[in-house]
Amino acid sequence: MTKYYLPDGMRYSTLEERKRFYTEEFDLEKVAEWFEKPIGNVKFAVIIGRHTQIYPEKYKEDASTTIIIDECQGLEDMRAQIVEFLPESAYYDRNVYDENDRKTGQELAFDLDPENIICPIHGSLADKMKRDQGLSFCALELNMVREQAIRLYEHLEKEFSQMRIVYSGRGFHIHVFDADAYAFSEKKRLELAKTVKKKGFGIDEWVTAGEMRLIRLPYSLHGLVSRIAVPVEKSELERFDPVCDERCIPKFLSSNALIS
Ligand SMILES: [Zn+2]
Repeated sequence: MTKYYLPDGMRYSTLEERKRFYTEEFDLEKVAEWFEKPIGNVKFAVIIGRHTQIYPEKYKEDASTTIIIDECQGLEDMRAQIVEFLPESAYYDRNVYDENDRKTGQELAFDLDPENIICPIHGSLADKMKRDQGLSFCALELNMVREQAIRLYEHLEKEFSQMRIVYSGRGFHIHVFDADAYAFSEKKRLELAKTVKKKGFGIDEWVTAGEMRLIRLPYSLHGLVSRIAVPVEKSELERFDPVCDERCIPKFLSSNALIS
Protein backbone atom coordinates (compact mmCIF):
# COMPACT_ATOMS: atom_id res chain seq x y z
CA MET A 1 0.00 0.00 0.00
CA THR A 2 2.71 2.50 0.97
CA LYS A 3 4.63 3.87 -1.96
CA TYR A 4 7.69 4.73 0.13
CA TYR A 5 10.34 2.32 1.26
CA LEU A 6 11.59 2.80 4.82
CA PRO A 7 13.92 1.04 7.28
CA ASP A 8 12.47 -2.05 9.01
CA GLY A 9 9.66 -1.31 11.45
CA MET A 10 9.07 2.22 10.21
CA ARG A 11 5.69 2.89 8.63
CA TYR A 12 2.82 5.39 8.52
CA SER A 13 0.80 5.81 11.71
CA THR A 14 -2.96 5.39 11.46
CA LEU A 15 -5.35 8.09 12.74
CA GLU A 16 -6.19 5.86 15.69
CA GLU A 17 -2.50 5.55 16.55
CA ARG A 18 -1.94 9.30 16.27
CA LYS A 19 -4.86 9.79 18.62
CA ARG A 20 -3.55 7.25 21.09
CA PHE A 21 -0.10 8.84 21.03
CA TYR A 22 -1.27 12.42 21.58
CA THR A 23 -3.80 11.56 24.29
CA GLU A 24 -1.78 8.97 26.23
CA GLU A 25 1.88 9.38 25.49
CA PHE A 26 2.81 12.90 24.30
CA ASP A 27 4.99 14.23 27.13
CA LEU A 28 4.14 17.88 27.77
CA GLU A 29 6.58 18.14 30.69
CA LYS A 30 9.41 17.30 28.36
CA VAL A 31 8.09 19.76 25.77
CA ALA A 32 8.08 22.43 28.50
CA GLU A 33 11.68 21.54 29.38
CA TRP A 34 12.65 21.93 25.75
CA PHE A 35 11.42 25.54 25.65
CA GLU A 36 12.81 26.24 29.14
CA LYS A 37 10.77 29.42 29.49
CA PRO A 38 6.95 29.78 29.41
CA ILE A 39 5.75 29.10 25.88
CA GLY A 40 3.82 32.43 25.81
CA ASN A 41 4.70 33.61 22.31
CA VAL A 42 5.71 30.31 20.73
CA LYS A 43 3.64 29.44 17.66
CA PHE A 44 2.95 25.83 16.72
CA ALA A 45 1.90 24.32 13.41
CA VAL A 46 0.61 21.05 12.03
CA ILE A 47 0.34 19.30 8.70
CA ILE A 48 -2.52 16.84 8.80
CA GLY A 49 -1.95 14.53 5.86
CA ARG A 50 0.16 16.04 3.07
CA HIS A 51 2.44 13.05 2.52
CA THR A 52 0.52 10.19 4.06
CA GLN A 53 -2.90 11.20 2.68
CA ILE A 54 -4.21 10.00 6.05
CA TYR A 55 -6.50 12.61 7.65
CA PRO A 56 -9.81 12.94 9.49
CA GLU A 57 -12.50 13.17 6.81
CA LYS A 58 -13.70 16.60 8.04
CA TYR A 59 -10.25 18.07 7.30
CA LYS A 60 -9.99 16.69 3.75
CA GLU A 61 -9.76 20.21 2.28
CA ASP A 62 -6.94 21.20 4.62
CA ALA A 63 -5.07 17.91 4.66
CA SER A 64 -2.03 19.30 2.80
CA THR A 65 -2.04 22.81 4.27
CA THR A 66 0.33 24.02 6.96
CA ILE A 67 -2.01 25.05 9.76
CA ILE A 68 -0.57 27.60 12.21
CA ILE A 69 -1.74 27.29 15.81
CA ASP A 70 -0.98 30.78 17.04
CA GLU A 71 -3.55 31.41 19.72
CA CYS A 72 -2.39 28.81 22.14
CA GLN A 73 -3.34 29.04 25.82
CA GLY A 74 -0.49 26.91 27.08
CA LEU A 75 0.69 23.39 26.37
CA GLU A 76 -2.51 21.55 27.32
CA ASP A 77 -4.36 23.72 24.82
CA MET A 78 -1.71 22.96 22.20
CA ARG A 79 -2.23 19.25 22.86
CA ALA A 80 -6.01 19.63 22.57
CA GLN A 81 -5.61 21.28 19.16
CA ILE A 82 -3.26 18.54 17.97
CA VAL A 83 -5.75 15.89 19.12
CA GLU A 84 -8.41 17.74 17.13
CA PHE A 85 -6.36 17.68 13.90
CA LEU A 86 -4.54 14.36 14.42
CA PRO A 87 -1.70 15.50 12.17
CA GLU A 88 1.06 13.48 10.52
CA SER A 89 3.51 16.18 11.71
CA ALA A 90 3.72 18.90 14.39
CA TYR A 91 6.12 21.84 14.35
CA TYR A 92 7.05 24.99 16.18
CA ASP A 93 8.01 28.34 14.76
CA ARG A 94 11.69 29.20 15.33
CA ASN A 95 10.93 32.90 15.04
CA VAL A 96 10.91 34.69 18.36
CA TYR A 97 8.13 37.27 18.74
CA ASP A 98 7.58 40.09 21.20
CA GLU A 99 4.22 40.74 22.86
CA ASN A 100 3.12 42.77 19.83
CA ASP A 101 3.78 39.81 17.56
CA ARG A 102 6.83 41.43 16.00
CA LYS A 103 9.70 39.13 15.08
CA THR A 104 12.74 39.82 17.26
CA GLY A 105 15.00 36.97 16.20
CA GLN A 106 15.16 33.38 15.05
CA GLU A 107 16.57 30.20 16.50
CA LEU A 108 19.29 28.88 14.20
CA ALA A 109 18.89 25.29 13.06
CA PHE A 110 20.37 22.72 10.72
CA ASP A 111 18.21 20.02 9.17
CA LEU A 112 19.95 16.87 7.96
CA ASP A 113 17.63 14.63 5.99
CA PRO A 114 18.31 11.22 4.49
CA GLU A 115 16.97 12.31 1.11
CA ASN A 116 19.91 14.68 0.76
CA ILE A 117 22.33 11.79 1.14
CA ILE A 118 23.61 10.14 -2.01
CA CYS A 119 22.98 6.47 -1.39
CA PRO A 120 25.19 3.85 -3.05
CA ILE A 121 22.04 1.79 -3.70
CA HIS A 122 19.23 4.34 -4.24
CA GLY A 123 21.22 7.26 -5.65
CA SER A 124 20.66 10.99 -5.22
CA LEU A 125 17.48 12.89 -4.38
CA ALA A 126 17.00 13.53 -8.12
CA ASP A 127 17.20 9.78 -8.80
CA LYS A 128 14.65 9.09 -6.07
CA MET A 129 12.34 11.87 -7.31
CA LYS A 130 12.39 10.34 -10.77
CA ARG A 131 10.97 7.18 -9.23
CA ASP A 132 8.50 9.21 -7.15
CA GLN A 133 10.38 8.15 -4.02
CA GLY A 134 11.49 11.58 -2.78
CA LEU A 135 10.71 10.81 0.86
CA SER A 136 11.95 7.24 0.91
CA PHE A 137 15.12 6.32 2.72
CA CYS A 138 16.95 3.17 3.69
CA ALA A 139 18.89 2.02 6.76
CA LEU A 140 22.14 2.86 5.00
CA GLU A 141 21.06 6.46 4.40
CA LEU A 142 19.86 6.76 7.99
CA ASN A 143 23.27 5.61 9.15
CA MET A 144 25.05 8.05 6.84
CA VAL A 145 22.89 10.95 8.00
CA ARG A 146 23.70 10.06 11.63
CA GLU A 147 27.43 10.19 10.83
CA GLN A 148 26.89 13.57 9.19
CA ALA A 149 25.10 14.85 12.29
CA ILE A 150 28.13 13.92 14.41
CA ARG A 151 30.54 15.65 12.05
CA LEU A 152 28.36 18.73 11.61
CA TYR A 153 27.99 19.09 15.38
CA GLU A 154 31.77 18.93 15.75
CA HIS A 155 32.19 21.49 12.99
CA LEU A 156 29.65 23.87 14.56
CA GLU A 157 31.26 23.51 17.99
CA LYS A 158 34.06 25.76 16.74
CA GLU A 159 31.58 28.63 16.54
CA PHE A 160 28.71 27.79 18.91
CA SER A 161 28.49 26.44 22.44
CA GLN A 162 24.78 25.88 23.15
CA MET A 163 23.55 23.21 20.80
CA ARG A 164 21.16 20.29 20.95
CA ILE A 165 20.61 17.42 18.56
CA VAL A 166 17.15 16.02 17.87
CA TYR A 167 16.40 12.79 16.06
CA SER A 168 13.59 14.05 13.84
CA GLY A 169 12.06 10.77 12.70
CA ARG A 170 13.81 10.74 9.34
CA GLY A 171 17.07 12.55 10.02
CA PHE A 172 18.57 14.86 12.62
CA HIS A 173 18.22 18.51 13.57
CA ILE A 174 20.91 20.57 15.25
CA HIS A 175 19.43 23.51 17.19
CA VAL A 176 21.69 26.42 18.16
CA PHE A 177 20.71 28.39 21.27
CA ASP A 178 23.66 30.81 21.48
CA ALA A 179 22.26 34.29 22.09
CA ASP A 180 24.19 35.92 19.23
CA ALA A 181 22.90 33.34 16.73
CA TYR A 182 19.30 34.48 17.35
CA ALA A 183 20.30 37.89 16.02
CA PHE A 184 22.03 36.69 12.82
CA SER A 185 20.92 38.56 9.69
CA GLU A 186 19.27 36.72 6.81
CA LYS A 187 22.42 37.26 4.76
CA LYS A 188 24.62 35.71 7.44
CA ARG A 189 22.28 32.70 7.74
CA LEU A 190 22.30 32.10 4.01
CA GLU A 191 26.11 32.33 3.90
CA LEU A 192 26.36 29.88 6.78
CA ALA A 193 24.00 27.48 5.02
CA LYS A 194 26.00 27.67 1.80
CA THR A 195 29.32 27.15 3.60
CA VAL A 196 28.02 24.09 5.43
CA LYS A 197 26.56 22.70 2.21
CA LYS A 198 29.82 23.25 0.36
CA LYS A 199 31.57 21.20 3.02
CA GLY A 200 29.41 18.29 1.88
CA PHE A 201 26.73 18.21 4.58
CA GLY A 202 23.28 17.24 3.27
CA ILE A 203 21.39 20.04 4.97
CA ASP A 204 18.19 21.70 3.86
CA GLU A 205 19.47 25.18 3.03
CA TRP A 206 16.10 26.90 3.58
CA VAL A 207 15.87 25.79 7.19
CA THR A 208 19.26 27.28 8.10
CA ALA A 209 18.70 30.37 5.94
CA GLY A 210 15.47 30.93 7.85
CA GLU A 211 13.02 30.93 4.96
CA MET A 212 11.52 27.69 6.29
CA ARG A 213 11.00 28.76 9.87
CA LEU A 214 9.09 25.74 11.14
CA ILE A 215 10.90 22.82 12.73
CA ARG A 216 9.59 19.54 14.04
CA LEU A 217 8.37 19.76 17.62
CA PRO A 218 10.54 17.60 19.90
CA TYR A 219 8.56 14.76 21.56
CA SER A 220 5.90 14.85 18.84
CA LEU A 221 5.08 11.88 16.62
CA HIS A 222 6.47 11.69 13.10
CA GLY A 223 3.51 10.06 11.38
CA LEU A 224 5.39 8.96 8.25
CA VAL A 225 7.70 6.66 10.17
CA SER A 226 5.89 6.12 13.52
CA ARG A 227 8.78 7.46 15.55
CA ILE A 228 8.90 10.08 18.33
CA ALA A 229 11.24 13.02 17.68
CA VAL A 230 13.64 12.98 20.65
CA PRO A 231 16.69 14.96 21.75
CA VAL A 232 19.84 12.81 21.70
CA GLU A 233 23.12 13.60 23.44
CA LYS A 234 26.11 14.05 21.18
CA SER A 235 27.99 11.42 23.21
CA GLU A 236 25.41 8.72 22.45
CA LEU A 237 24.88 9.53 18.80
CA GLU A 238 27.54 7.07 17.67
CA ARG A 239 25.42 4.19 19.00
CA PHE A 240 21.95 5.69 18.55
CA ASP A 241 19.67 3.47 16.46
CA PRO A 242 16.15 4.83 15.86
CA VAL A 243 15.03 1.49 14.45
CA CYS A 244 15.10 0.00 17.95
CA ASP A 245 15.81 2.77 20.52
CA GLU A 246 12.97 2.66 23.09
CA ARG A 247 12.82 6.44 23.52
CA CYS A 248 11.61 7.00 20.00
CA ILE A 249 9.27 4.02 19.60
CA PRO A 250 5.64 4.88 20.39
CA LYS A 251 3.67 2.48 22.63
CA PHE A 252 1.33 1.51 19.80
CA LEU A 253 4.32 -0.10 18.07
CA SER A 254 5.95 -1.68 21.09
CA SER A 255 2.67 -3.31 22.16
CA ASN A 256 2.18 -4.64 18.60
CA ALA A 257 5.62 -6.15 18.83
CA LEU A 258 4.61 -8.05 21.97
CA ILE A 259 1.61 -9.56 20.24
CA SER A 260 3.30 -10.68 17.02
ZN1 LIG B 1 19.40 3.97 0.08
